[in-house]
Amino acid sequence: MLRRAGLSLRHFLLERKGSAGYSSCSREAKMSRPVQARRLEGIDKNIWVEFVKLAATYSKVNLGQGFPDFPAPDFLQEALRRALGENHMLHQYTRAFGHPPLVKVLAQFFEKLLGRELDPMTNVMVTVGAYQALFCCFQAFVDEGDEVIVIEPFFDCYETMVKMAGGTPVFVPLRPKAPKDGKLMSSADWQLDPAELASKFSAKTKAIVLNSPNNPLGKVFSQGELELIAELCVKHDILCISDEVYEWLVYDGRQHIRIASLPGMWERTVIIGSAGKTFSATGWKVGWTVGPDRLLQHVRTVHQNSVYHCATVAQEAVAQSFQRELRLYGKPDSYFVQLPRELQQKRDLLVQSLVAVGMKPIIPEGTYFLVADISEFKSDVPDVPSSDEPYDYRFAKWMIKNKGLAAIPLSAFYSEGHKNSHSNFIRFCFAKEEATLKAANDILQKWKQEKTSS
Ligand code: PMP
Repeated sequence: MLRRAGLSLRHFLLERKGSAGYSSCSREAKMSRPVQARRLEGIDKNIWVEFVKLAATYSKVNLGQGFPDFPAPDFLQEALRRALGENHMLHQYTRAFGHPPLVKVLAQFFEKLLGRELDPMTNVMVTVGAYQALFCCFQAFVDEGDEVIVIEPFFDCYETMVKMAGGTPVFVPLRPKAPKDGKLMSSADWQLDPAELASKFSAKTKAIVLNSPNNPLGKVFSQGELELIAELCVKHDILCISDEVYEWLVYDGRQHIRIASLPGMWERTVIIGSAGKTFSATGWKVGWTVGPDRLLQHVRTVHQNSVYHCATVAQEAVAQSFQRELRLYGKPDSYFVQLPRELQQKRDLLVQSLVAVGMKPIIPEGTYFLVADISEFKSDVPDVPSSDEPYDYRFAKWMIKNKGLAAIPLSAFYSEGHKNSHSNFIRFCFAKEEATLKAANDILQKWKQEKTSS
């Protein structure tokens, strides 16, 4: 039609520049109206983009982003090979809300853990990693004007996902209490102040996000702490989004307690889990939600209209791996028994290295992360007072570039207003081969020697 009228497309667009907002400044016709949706304002910067790139460029040893560098278990890999070869239909779509064998075995597993009957079709939904489960929950439950309580420090996407849903995150901190007798601090020394927590609940509160075991501290919330949160949830009639991706990674004989098993909580809780953490395969991106149908029906609506479903073969292999774990539940050969045992040794190895050089670790009760105090090393890193970045950001970047060791600044897990009060710590991931942890130890020892000889 344009051709017939004797106009090229470029001419046509340039002619329309005034009325339709096309710019003639560049040779390419560009839109001049804002393209970004308002809900993305202020959330377009992300720590992981920057630190993953820095680590890839400079680090010799990467203890930054949370993923194991050891192989996923043989049974998981074999299950995937079988799934790929045995049944060609596993290359096709499966049920949108979860491949039937996976939702069935997850329901059986969680029936055992929660002590209640579950319907695989309505009480379980499979997602693309725990990340998508979180996204679906915030989209499903949070309206404009709703408040969501987030316990600091927190897995950073909670804040941005709440905002994208139109809600307002309300932060409440875990406050550290220094242990007596000069002992090392434990993640258990970081606690909620009950009165402060209670003061955050209001008529606007729609939900609280609980992450136990907690990334980044490794805190495993105690029965008493969970009861306190549960009582407030029931009293104010609010939802609990319970991110339990590290549920099997708990050390020193501690128990992971599921808040959904406390009185009045099942009806208002969505449990979120991840095969990535459970089976040391973060790249698979298989996650799940478990909860009452009354809540999950809305999570399903978001999932149906965004992602639809995740890779069938991966779901099949995760299903078979859960069947194995169900048979071996509580037995020494269970991966859920073996993995925390191995990780506890790795934790202790990293703790020793850090203590030896004077970077005081906070001993984590769970997860595969460890937060360490870097105050002793401050004098080594040139301070840039004009920079508006928190100190730990500068420290971590300097360490990656100059020492080849990657870690993540703790303030990345705090809201904007609170970043500068927690900028003396960095987070390490210890889900690594012994050789990787030894290489980190070598870097730290050399650094310490250079410090003492200078
Ligand atoms: N929640 C927490 C607390 C996490 O640490 C992570 C991953 N780092 C996720 C959710 C996302 O898990 P997935 O990789 O299964 O999406």
